[in-house]
Amino acid sequence: MTRRPARRFTPSPAPREAGPPAPARPADDVVGRTVQDAYRRYARQAGNWLTGYAARGGQVYCGAGCFACCNMPIRVSLAEALVTVRALGAAQRAAVQAHARRVVENARTARNDEEYVQRHRTEVGYCPLLDRATGSCSQYDVRPTRCRDTFSALPAVYCEAGTWEAMNRREREEYRRTVARTPGTDGELHFIAPLEHLSEPVWVAAARVMRQTWGVEVWGDFWVLTTLAADPAFMQAVEAGQGRAAWQAAARRGLAHRALLEFGA
Ligand code: SF4
Repeated sequence: MTRRPARRFTPSPAPREAGPPAPARPADDVVGRTVQDAYRRYARQAGNWLTGYAARGGQVYCGAGCFACCNMPIRVSLAEALVTVRALGAAQRAAVQAHARRVVENARTARNDEEYVQRHRTEVGYCPLLDRATGSCSQYDVRPTRCRDTFSALPAVYCEAGTWEAMNRREREEYRRTVARTPGTDGELHFIAPLEHLSEPVWVAAARVMRQTWGVEVWGDFWVLTTLAADPAFMQAVEAGQGRAAWQAAARRGLAHRALLEFGA
């Protein structure tokens, strides 16, 4: 249960912080619009699928105040991070940057993927965009794809850090049997598989618009890329299709790590 991120889906009542929006450059506008159009298409398709799922007796356990999964690592495109960063005020940008530094430190010192994920959940901790007072996402409208397409077909305890690790053999076998008979899962994990598959066009659209606009795809950790999306030197290099210069700009910020920042043509 630590193999993939799960996210919550409740709009936040929390007001956004005051602060200047990131200046939008024309090329970024194309990128941001493309991502947001893809988010809207996904929301429609997921909504239709969920209606049918409920009619067939399926149950989704994600709901208001549940944030058990907001301490999972999240992989995004720079295109998605651009959409997010524009909505953040100065305080949230600073919080995201501080979180990104903890993410990088964890990646530098984790001995393997399992330790990386486990420490991310328990030591790096919850996403700084989570409003802990309400349990809601403070940036629900601009949350990344991974936060949109993960739905749990079992109660939130199965999404929480440490649940799987604390189970004994008999409990793990019971979990597997429960998942196997739960409609909508892939038979192995308790997340609803078709809703993840439906989000694939968002990734495809992000990849295409990055290639067409910048000549380079940029993927990586959500908080690292959200921080870098507000870095003029980094974005200037990306917009010029210069992956090496962008990497150097990230390194100057202490945010260059091969597991967290990837460039592709
Ligand atoms: S952006 Fe952060 S707070 Fe919002 S749903 Fe995703 S992980 Fe949770």
